[in-house]
Amino acid sequence: MENKRTSAKKKKIIKSIKKTLGVLGTLLCSLILVIIITGSVFVTAITVYVFNFAEGTEDYVSLEEIELTYTSQILAPNPDYDGTNEQWQVYYTMSSAGDKMVWTEFDEISRYVIDAFVCSEDERFYDHDGVDFKRTFGAFVNIFIPIYDNMQGGSTITQQTIKVITGDDARDGVEGVSRKIREILRSINTENTYGKDDILEAYLNVIYLGRAEGCNYYGVQSASNFYFGKDVNDLTLAEAATIAAINKDPTFYNPYRNPDNNKGRATYILNKMYENGAVSSDEYYNALSELETIKIVGDTTYSTSGEQLSAQSSVSSYYVDATISQAITELMDIYGIDYDTASSRLYSGGYKIYTNVDLEMQEKLEQEYLDDTNFQSYELEEDDLLSAFICMDYEGKVLAVIGNRGEKESSRVWNNATMATRSPGSTIKPLSAFAPAIEQDMVTWSTLLKDDPIDLAPAGSTEPNLFPNNYSEYGDDNPNWSHKLMTVEKMLETSTNTGAAQLVRMLTPSYCYNFLQGSLGFTSLVQRDDSGRSDVAYSPMTVGSLTRGMYLSELVAAYQIFGNGGVYYGHSFINKIVDKDDKVVYEHDPYQLKAIGSDTAYVLNRMMLQVVEGPDGTGKAANLDTVEVIAKTGTSENWENLTFVACTPEYVSGIWVGYENPDVIDTSKYQSIAKMWKNVFGEIADAGTVKTFKGDSNVSHLRYCTKTGLIATADCESTAMGYFKNSNTPETCMECLDIDDDAMDNVDDDSDIYGN
Ligand SMILES: [Zn+2]
Repeated sequence: MENKRTSAKKKKIIKSIKKTLGVLGTLLCSLILVIIITGSVFVTAITVYVFNFAEGTEDYVSLEEIELTYTSQILAPNPDYDGTNEQWQVYYTMSSAGDKMVWTEFDEISRYVIDAFVCSEDERFYDHDGVDFKRTFGAFVNIFIPIYDNMQGGSTITQQTIKVITGDDARDGVEGVSRKIREILRSINTENTYGKDDILEAYLNVIYLGRAEGCNYYGVQSASNFYFGKDVNDLTLAEAATIAAINKDPTFYNPYRNPDNNKGRATYILNKMYENGAVSSDEYYNALSELETIKIVGDTTYSTSGEQLSAQSSVSSYYVDATISQAITELMDIYGIDYDTASSRLYSGGYKIYTNVDLEMQEKLEQEYLDDTNFQSYELEEDDLLSAFICMDYEGKVLAVIGNRGEKESSRVWNNATMATRSPGSTIKPLSAFAPAIEQDMVTWSTLLKDDPIDLAPAGSTEPNLFPNNYSEYGDDNPNWSHKLMTVEKMLETSTNTGAAQLVRMLTPSYCYNFLQGSLGFTSLVQRDDSGRSDVAYSPMTVGSLTRGMYLSELVAAYQIFGNGGVYYGHSFINKIVDKDDKVVYEHDPYQLKAIGSDTAYVLNRMMLQVVEGPDGTGKAANLDTVEVIAKTGTSENWENLTFVACTPEYVSGIWVGYENPDVIDTSKYQSIAKMWKNVFGEIADAGTVKTFKGDSNVSHLRYCTKTGLIATADCESTAMGYFKNSNTPETCMECLDIDDDAMDNVDDDSDIYGN
């Protein structure tokens, strides 16, 4: 009985074991099947991709041509540069659609940052060949059976880089497997092509490191600029860990929005770094305590050395606008691309644009342009007078530019100095008439011209066509011709139109036109337009009544010749443009043209000094206390545009005022244009270190007879001093000689010819 019972019990146990084994067997078979299927998918996929991979180069990833958005920067010379500190500072950061990235070379990235990423993201980075198979297998299993929550996709730094660069990031199912295989093959290939440092450099520059204040930050430099207001090379260990912590989940671990989450992850990273021997125990413990009080600063502008500057205004300055416009034009030229392509390349190409701006001057002018009293003669209720200002040096480097009065409300707006073409009025005269006439030895300082109009009527015509009127505030009914003899200098000093007209007649309008276009770089002149209008004529060349007008920037650039010995350089906002690989793609090469001789230039220079310092000068209000100013006023017909170009030994500058829809400027309401210039620019100009213009050895300061315009003798009753080219000195005045006083001896006696 006992046996039988035992036997039955045994049978039951065996049956139970058999049953259990059966279940286990089924399970085992199923598992094997799953593995076989998975394996087949894996092998098939690998085979397909390996073949594809071997066939073409489409899976080759170039680290040199990473097609992502890089922030371009506009740099300004540091006003406090002393030869040892940073020469350049960030003036404006350009970015498209709120993306920020500042490409940084590997050796300019702090070791802390590199170690923080390597230790936390891929500790075997320096040992593997692009793929960490231990982690990869885990990741594969994870695709089908998500066991590990914390897998990081099994991606090495190389793989993460590929993923960002290619934008290939399918995660699930067959596409996920395909992507993974593609990524593995590309990673191995990348490791064969590039060194570990190249890969790390690309990685640290392209990874997404969070969004804040409407911007996406890519790469460790832009993250470090934003979160800490520092250059990435100056980060502390705790700050480096904070930035590395973002990568795992840029929203959850964002230190700006979720500082506590970030701290947890940063602590983990510091532990990893310590474990891996990347930091000493002192560094480790110091960083842990620093982490407790770490401060996220948010957006600031910073110098290239990481020095914090004032917060960047979202509205760009007129100088920045003009720089961007010029840079787009240069890129169109360099790459042979259209405007839109050049523009998007500029905004997202990681360029560094080195400008010629004088930041202190630019900011001072911006302030002066907010002050209405600089323009008005008394407080006006309605004041829609526009104005523009530009200043450059004698090699055409633009130092400052203002496109209009008042607060600048948005970026890339209309700029009256660089975009508007307006009548230059009489500021055209020294360029179109006086300089070429003296250069051609047609007249001298003291040549006497009669204040009479010229007759433009064709030969045989019975009706005279008298030109021009001298503008007068009394209106056109009073032509205001004095019919008196005046020296060439006085004609310029008083801006008498008849003198200029006579010089243009001597030169011919087409000579004047060609000189302006060919030697002084004016681009807005019109040879002949569809309606038959032409600037090759008396009125345009004499009083600036041009078909289109002139850009203030070009007008001011042309005046360089009067302060630098006659050389025309054009003008440029940009010094050079460097691409993200530090290759210079554009360097401003000043166009140099000897427009007039240095002797002519200096004679003109002294004539224009009379405009400011002479008794009848039209620009007397521009006189400065210590620095010499030479200038020319310009009033267009009907008082619609007022222009003033003024040069000091250091600066060439110009100011313009007028209305959007040209209309008569009520000069009683406004200060004179020379006064406006002094109001906005006087303090800057008068602070110059060079007080007077340099003379020219081929020019002499001589006394002449005002009655004849010839070199004076002791017998000339009325005399004055003038500047003369040594190669074209007037003859000695014979008319005033007192014959009874043995005239011939006097003439031969040098002591009777005044000069110094
Ligand atoms: Zn005389």
